[in-house]
Amino acid sequence: MLVHIKELFEQSVRGKFAYPAFNTMNLEITRGIIAAAEELNTPIILETSEGAIKYAGLETIFEVMATMAIKAKVPIALHMDHGKDVDQLRQGIELGYSSVMIDHSGEDLDKNIKNTKELVQFAHKEGAWVQGEIGRIRGSEDWVSVSDRESLLTEPEEAKSFWEATGVDTLACSVGTIHGIIKMTGEAEAKVDIDRIQRIAELVPVPLVLHGASGVPDDVIHQAIKAGISIINIDTELRIGFTKNLRAALLEHPDEVDPRKYLSPAIAGVTEAAKAKLMAFKTINQVN
Ligand SMILES: [Zn+2]
Repeated sequence: MLVHIKELFEQSVRGKFAYPAFNTMNLEITRGIIAAAEELNTPIILETSEGAIKYAGLETIFEVMATMAIKAKVPIALHMDHGKDVDQLRQGIELGYSSVMIDHSGEDLDKNIKNTKELVQFAHKEGAWVQGEIGRIRGSEDWVSVSDRESLLTEPEEAKSFWEATGVDTLACSVGTIHGIIKMTGEAEAKVDIDRIQRIAELVPVPLVLHGASGVPDDVIHQAIKAGISIINIDTELRIGFTKNLRAALLEHPDEVDPRKYLSPAIAGVTEAAKAKLMAFKTINQVN
């Protein structure tokens, strides 16, 4: 069933549980994700990035997600991830996303606050939630030195004043994780600053969001949830699951020209990857 994101947070989950927010970009990945959520009977957030919207078209991908969410056996909330284009964010809200993320964390702080606050005012009139970002969560392609890396992390006091000034409903913080394909070794190794999450959670009462958690070990995810993370974005693992099975199917049947024949295993690959994440989250939930 399609739900507003606020319904997922009617009871506080902080310290106990985090909702997975799965990124999708097409019909196949959406189907794969929902199959996993239904099999494990878990509410989820489905989200699209600006890249996904550019690829699939805003209305098209929204309708794909909404249509499938309405029919799903579990609660599903729709979220627009990492929006830089304010017009598109407003369009998304009008279309029916119950949550959008404005990512102006690359701007200076005053501008980030101003732009985020303006969108929050618009969104709240329309009944939607806004996620803001304070500190900058870098991509695996961004090379930064260790000292620069530190400077991109969210300062707890700054997070508090950002939340107070903007009125965001959820907050993405930079706590050491990296977007994109996991480079868990060497220079780019993601070090999750659990203590920082805890300090932010003490000052900011709204749900905190962990981005770039691909490849972060389950025990670290567990600590992050206990410290106060309530939403965890998942993208890379799904892409790997999809592509791995698609590649295998094409190699096994090089003459196959019916896309349904090789996309079906790709969908199953997404389901498998999403289930692995959901099971890890469930275990974490039981441990708590
Ligand atoms: Zn992100």
